[in-house]
Amino acid sequence: MNKNNTATKIVKILDKTYPDAPKTYLNFQNPFEMLIATILSARATDAGVNKISPILFKKYPTPEKMSKANLEEIGQIIRPLGAFNKKAGYITETSRQLVDRFGSSVPKTMEELISFPGASRKTANVVLSVVFGLSEGVVVDTHVMRVTVRLGLSEHDKKPQKIEKGLMELLPNELWNDYARLIGAHGRRTCKSRKPNCIECILNKLCPSAVFDE
Ligand code: SF4
Repeated sequence: MNKNNTATKIVKILDKTYPDAPKTYLNFQNPFEMLIATILSARATDAGVNKISPILFKKYPTPEKMSKANLEEIGQIIRPLGAFNKKAGYITETSRQLVDRFGSSVPKTMEELISFPGASRKTANVVLSVVFGLSEGVVVDTHVMRVTVRLGLSEHDKKPQKIEKGLMELLPNELWNDYARLIGAHGRRTCKSRKPNCIECILNKLCPSAVFDE
């Protein structure tokens, strides 16, 4: 089976395995919160972001309010996420640009989304897919990166942009969002970072990295 067929088959199998796989693990109430939460999630866990986001968005519920926030105060709230000074700068500046350039609305294109400070292609892909149901690319987070390489669908370990480009060539556009959502679920539940559960993995017959020894 060629790689294109394998990738499509994997999506179909996982779709049946994880019918409840969520689009995101970040909590949000509107596009603004999703954009900010995704910027904050860089090198932090979604659970960690979910802990601080109710406090952050209660105090700064709109781009206007966040753009005028005191950097030190924001830094104190987001401190547990790491790189808090840098991230405080990113989210206040992103808020300012939302107000000045986009009338306080979150834009719907990759080009515009990656123009915000602290926003990567991953950030943009998350916002586009989760908030707007659009797909200009594939969300490649730490789980998608790890599992895609283990499954032999990319040889570009730790290179998210190259992994994403390869996946966009392997899969039809209508499966890009499903692939990221389902592989994310598989990575969290079965193909875990430290100890993949290859024995019980539904993909073990297709996977070149399957290990069955203890
Ligand atoms: S067989 Fe093992 S390495 Fe391959 S996808 Fe399944 S859990 Fe991951």
